[in-house]
Amino acid sequence: MTSVPLVSLLADLPAYTPGRTVPGAVKLASNELAFPTLPAVRDTILAHLDQGSTAINRYPDPGAAQLVQRLADLVGTTTDRVAVGSGSVALCQQLVQISCDPGDEVLFGWRSFEAYPIVSLIGRAVPVRVPLTAGHGLDLTAMAAAVTDRTRLIYLCTPNNPTGTSLTTAEVEAFLDAVPDRVLVVIDEAYREFDRGVDSPDGATIAATRSNVVALRTLSKAYGLAGLRVGYAVGDPAIIRALNQVVVPFAVNSLAQEAAVAALDSSQELQSRWDQVVAERTRVVAALRDADYEIPDSQANFVWLPLQEQAADFTRHCAEHRVIVRPFSEAAGGVRVSIGAPEENDLFLAAATSWARN
Ligand SMILES: *Cc1c(COP(=O)(O)O)cnc(C)c1O
Repeated sequence: MTSVPLVSLLADLPAYTPGRTVPGAVKLASNELAFPTLPAVRDTILAHLDQGSTAINRYPDPGAAQLVQRLADLVGTTTDRVAVGSGSVALCQQLVQISCDPGDEVLFGWRSFEAYPIVSLIGRAVPVRVPLTAGHGLDLTAMAAAVTDRTRLIYLCTPNNPTGTSLTTAEVEAFLDAVPDRVLVVIDEAYREFDRGVDSPDGATIAATRSNVVALRTLSKAYGLAGLRVGYAVGDPAIIRALNQVVVPFAVNSLAQEAAVAALDSSQELQSRWDQVVAERTRVVAALRDADYEIPDSQANFVWLPLQEQAADFTRHCAEHRVIVRPFSEAAGGVRVSIGAPEENDLFLAAATSWARN
């Protein structure tokens, strides 16, 4: 037991619960892409080890210039509008740090990404949770109404983790019209590559015309690089500069920088993987609904089972079938199940259809 008094904030800080990894079991708990490492990513990492000027004994480029340029090209913008981070969850925390003084409010739907309340509290801000609609989507009317003089930051997660529901461009634009320009609105698009909605928003395009909007994206999910930690933000140059002021130096390591560029260059292979995920999502949702589960429409690489207080029992049952899913057991609880490879999804469906509901 240390004699050092630690900050009081720690006593009430919720822990981030990662999806469990169980040897021999199928993991459908962290929304990872269930494909082997992209060949170009593997080759790049192996080649990197032999390169004198960028070998592992050297620090990475702190500004990640090549990666930032590649991302700016991808979204059709300039490099002063792009910041990279050690996963987009690190950028979530930086966004609180640059927008909130102690006691300011961070607004988000609930349930949504479980890191939002944690990074808000770490940033000495006050998390404000706005309940989802009965259909498990973000309640934009209630969110706009919840803005106060202390609101500094709003997270709009679309498609929403963990419910999979997505917003349309028209809905996002109407929301932005209703929110004061002084509030920073972050459109968290961690799952945008799986969104097949008719009018799904492009946060980077919206951020191009609204200086209070930031699009947040990651290479962890659709690009299959969760283990390397690369995310990025697109927005006004002043916001991007501020994000770079509070970043931990060298946050994106050299392997991650090079692998990210290789992944971004593998768009054809990736597009085919995304299409396979979407096809499997359609199949899994249909099978679950056939088995009488209530499943909100998902535009992400996971599905949501709003099982409330039965979430823990369902999760246990799946684990007995060697399938690890992600329970959310508190209020508005349910189970989030990632879309895996076809045989993994079959195992999950066998577990789900053999569960005896209470
Ligand atoms: C997974 C996820 C992220 C961040 O992932 P990183 O691995 O940190 O890039 C951000 N937002 C949402 C909603 C997510 O689900």
